[in-house]
Amino acid sequence: MSEFVLQIDGKEVTAREGMTIVEAAKTAGIRIPTLCHHDQLEPYGACRICTVEAEANGRNQLVAACVYPAEKGMVVQTKTEKLAKIRKVLVEQMMAHAPDAPQLLELAEEYGADRDRFDKDPSFCILCGLCVRYCNEVKKKNAIGYIDRGPRREISFIPDVAGKECWDCKECFPLCPTSALQAAYVLTEALATPPEEAAQEAGCAGSCSCSGSCG
Ligand code: SF4
Repeated sequence: MSEFVLQIDGKEVTAREGMTIVEAAKTAGIRIPTLCHHDQLEPYGACRICTVEAEANGRNQLVAACVYPAEKGMVVQTKTEKLAKIRKVLVEQMMAHAPDAPQLLELAEEYGADRDRFDKDPSFCILCGLCVRYCNEVKKKNAIGYIDRGPRREISFIPDVAGKECWDCKECFPLCPTSALQAAYVLTEALATPPEEAAQEAGCAGSCSCSGSCG
């Protein structure tokens, strides 16, 4: 595979054909923040926190570094004032959905984001798609997917499949940047399991109305 040189933050970086800007930067020890990116998954470009300034063929553009291919002679800036402002607003928008997400709190500190800038809509999901894509691309189970469209779009476990596959897997849970996925799964399980069955599984006598939770 052919190699070429580009410049990232003033540093000459050797990249291979097919690499994205994020991958090229990583080989040179340059960190570009990401939330929806995962080395095992196809590039997705959902969260845009990896936005960088890239100049190639005389054009300067803002691009999502996790999907944009590195090119020979390209000049990339990953830490400008303009980028810091863009990332700050992106973090603030995501914090409307998941105000206490650990990864967002870290980014908020880094970019001076105000977690209360936008009205709260705590879905606890930033639609990074990591869980959906991991289950689909790596596990090939399709136990979780998107429902609805536009602003109502959300993630949902598919109860029939998740009931069979997830209990012994749980591999996507730690990928969730808001740490909310496990809770969503527990809720799906609870809604899919009749109260009497849940009580039996928990070894409860079933004489109260706790559904097994008091055991
Ligand atoms: S825990 Fe369930 S949804 Fe997550 S990767 Fe495993 S099978 Fe897929």
